[in-house]
Amino acid sequence: MANLLDGKTTAQKIQSQLREKIKTLEPQRGRPPGLAVLMVGDNPASAVYVRNKEKSCERVGIASFGQHFPADTSQEELKEAIANLNEDDRVDGILVQLPLPEHLDAVSLLYEIAPHKDADGLHPMNLGGLVRGEKGLRSCTPAGVMRLLEEYQIPLAGKRAVVLGRSILVGKPMALMLLEANCTVTVAHSRTENLEAIASEADILIAAVGRPEMVGANCIKPGAVVIDVGINRLEDANGKSRLVGDVDFQAAEPIAGYITPVPGGIGPMTVAMLLQNTVESYQKRI
Ligand code: NDP
Repeated sequence: MANLLDGKTTAQKIQSQLREKIKTLEPQRGRPPGLAVLMVGDNPASAVYVRNKEKSCERVGIASFGQHFPADTSQEELKEAIANLNEDDRVDGILVQLPLPEHLDAVSLLYEIAPHKDADGLHPMNLGGLVRGEKGLRSCTPAGVMRLLEEYQIPLAGKRAVVLGRSILVGKPMALMLLEANCTVTVAHSRTENLEAIASEADILIAAVGRPEMVGANCIKPGAVVIDVGINRLEDANGKSRLVGDVDFQAAEPIAGYITPVPGGIGPMTVAMLLQNTVESYQKRI
């Protein structure tokens, strides 16, 4: 039986630490930290994520400057909204909730965010800083994975890490952060041959493919640390939906040494890192 890596409890702990930090910093600054989440359209999953982020902000004492735009908002209108937030002294973090409607170009919008307010850590300047091993704002999901591994004192140096997925949001920054922690890193993707054999050599296996329960028993080395980043919604025959990860939890759990649940694993850690980035920017601007 694997030990559970409890992201929910760890995220709550981080949030309490941030709350205390804000309490001590606010008198110097004369205002709380501020986060602006920009949402476009009515994607129901995005609406839930945005609401969760706002609730978490409220809990730790971060002011929300969220803006909700209709689905037909133009690229220019969004650029202007970001420019205004860049100038707004009450706002320390800005993020654009993805995915965006088809007609919008998410990457060019990311360039518009002032790098020091890039709460999601996805601005090319911050990603470049990660490549160079410099300090700076880090992408929230992989940073959440690293923080959870640290919390459970999982040794990383010299270990074989395999990252399944190479997206700019998760896989690539994840691989770089593991490399920074002195793991020997392999990145696998949809064109990888013998993926199961590669995965089953991993001491640390990170699944970020967006394929429900793709990672089965034959991908897991006995005793491995298995981190499931995936969040997939499955519907049963009665139309009831449930969340599953990219890992087949029932199959992997008896083999792994440590494993994250879905939900309650990397999801809450991602939100905690978003809050942490916002507070870090706030602190730097004092
Ligand atoms: P993307 O779709 O952007 O990337 C998926 C990656 O997985 C790609 O690199 C793709 O390869 C690879 N891949 C897809 N299918 C296979 C396959 N059959 N075998 C091997 N590799 C495959 O997804 P994201 O990185 O944005 O997200 C991944 C998962 O993580 C999703 O379930 C998403 O919902 C979840 N997520 C969770 C977050 C959280 O807070 N917990 C935050 C962000 C994402 P290729 O490049 O070759 O196409």
